Amino acid sequence: MAEDNGNGGGVAAPPLRRQAGDFAWEGVERRPYKETDAALFKGISRQILFSEANLAGELRYFEIEPGGFSTLERHAHVHGVMVIRGAGRCLVGTEVREIAPFDLVTIPPWTWHQFRTGASEPLGFLCLVDAARDRPVLPTEDELSELKAVPAVAAFLEG
Ligand code: MN
Repeated sequence: MAEDNGNGGGVAAPPLRRQAGDFAWEGVERRPYKETDAALFKGISRQILFSEANLAGELRYFEIEPGGFSTLERHAHVHGVMVIRGAGRCLVGTEVREIAPFDLVTIPPWTWHQFRTGASEPLGFLCLVDAARDRPVLPTEDELSELKAVPAVAAFLEG
């Protein structure tokens, strides 16, 4: 079930890594959102803030450029999300919500989710996950049709 997630985790970080610019930190690389380009997404970067051999979780910072979005996906593992920059919207199951700094979003197991920005501001959020976790699954055509049967969800997915 759990797989190497390709994050290169397990290397002990020094006790203090300082903030190095806006939403940047010493020793933290700005990486592609995903290691694979099989999934649909746009304008999103990933920074791994905490990933240690003796830590059961990982904390990442994702930032989505204006007009961008994360992958529409679901999986067994849970996400604990805190928005820390800008504004946007999220889909959790069939619920679409506006999100703003310091809002907390919980994505339960096997729940469809996606994050989107508006046209003018980036959206930045911290995301807590299990270090050992399953791979995301993308919707089938049938599942996508089912989601789009909810008008608010259809409007959200069209941006
Ligand atoms: Mn996810």
